[in-house]
Amino acid sequence: MSLVYFCRYSASIARHWQDLLETALGETVLLGPPHGNLGADDLAAVDVAIVANPAPGLLAQMPNLRFVQSLWAGVDGLLADSSVPEHLPLARLVDPNLATAMAEAVATHVLGLHRQLPAYRAQQADVVWKPHHQPLAAECPVGILGMGEMGKASAAMLRALGFPVLGWSRSAGPAALDEVLARAHILVNLLPLTPETRHILAAPLFARMRPGAGLINFGRGGHQVVADIIAALDAGVLSHAVLDVFETEPLPADSPLWLHPKVTVTPHVAAETDSRTAAHCAAGNIRAFRAGRPVTGLVDRARGY
Ligand code: NAP
Repeated sequence: MSLVYFCRYSASIARHWQDLLETALGETVLLGPPHGNLGADDLAAVDVAIVANPAPGLLAQMPNLRFVQSLWAGVDGLLADSSVPEHLPLARLVDPNLATAMAEAVATHVLGLHRQLPAYRAQQADVVWKPHHQPLAAECPVGILGMGEMGKASAAMLRALGFPVLGWSRSAGPAALDEVLARAHILVNLLPLTPETRHILAAPLFARMRPGAGLINFGRGGHQVVADIIAALDAGVLSHAVLDVFETEPLPADSPLWLHPKVTVTPHVAAETDSRTAAHCAAGNIRAFRAGRPVTGLVDRARGY
C-alpha cells in the first residue's frame, strides 16, 4: 500500500515535506495534485493520505484510502469537504512543538496587553510621556476558550508567568463560561471551528465580558464577527483585539481591521507547523494506525474536532 501527500503549499515546500515524510516513514511518499500527477493505479494503491489543506474532492478519488493524517491542528477545512467519505478516520496534528509555539504566542500577546503596550505605542506616536498604573500579572486573570492541546500549553505558560488562568472547554458545559467571561481581564480564543463555535466572538459574548477586557483570537477567523468586534472596541466594551486569523486570508487590504488603532493584526502565525517535528508525529501516528494501535488526535466527526 502507498502513502500520498496533498498540500497547497508551493512546489518547493511540498517537496521539502515529501523528503521529511519519506525519511520519517522509511518508504516512498507520492506527491499528489497540484504538484504530482497520479494515475488510476497509484490512486487505487493509496491506503494513507497525509494532508495540509488539500483541495476539496481529492480524498474521494482513492477507493482504498483507510486513514487521513492532517499536518494541521485545525481540521475545519477538511471536515467542510463533503466528498470525504463519512467512515474515513481522520487525525489532526498533535505535536508538542506546535503547542509550545502557541503558548509562546499567547504569552507574548497577553503580556503585551497586560503591560499596556498598545497604549504606549499610541502615546509614542503622539510624543506623549504618560505613565499608567501597572498591576502585577497575579491581578490579571486570563480566560482561555478551548482547553485542548493549545489551551493547556498556553495555560501552563501563563501560570508560570504569574497569571491566574480560567479555562473553558466543551466538557465544562455552557454555564461555566459565565465565570470565565465575568472575571477575565484578557480572553484568549483557542477553540476549534465547529458549527457550535462559529461566530462565538460576537456582541452577545462581549456583553457578558468584564468591561474593557482585551481579546486575543488565535483560533479561526470563522469564530469572530468583525463588525461586532469593531463596535465593541469603539464603545470601550473591549479595550484591544489581537487577531491572527480571518475568514479571508490574507486579510484583504480594505479591511477596517488593518488601520483600527485598537487592533493588532498578525498573519496567521500564532503557531506554525514545524516540519521537522510534525513529520515525525505524523509518521508515528501512521505506523500506529497500520499496526492497529490507538492513534493520537482522532477527529470525532459528530463533535467537529
Ligand atoms: P483540541 O486539542 O482538539 O482542543 C479543543 C478544545 O476546545 C477542547 O478543550 C474542547 O473541549 C474545546 N471545545 C471544542 N468545542 C467546544 C465548544 N463547543 N464549547 C466549548 N469548548 C469546546 O484542539 P487544539 O489542538 O488545542 O487546537 C485548537 C484550535 O487552535 C485548532 O482547531 C485551530 O483552529 C487553532 N490553531 C490555530 C493556530 C494558529 O496559528 N492561529 C495554530 C494551531 C491551532 P473538550 O476538552 O471538552 O473536548
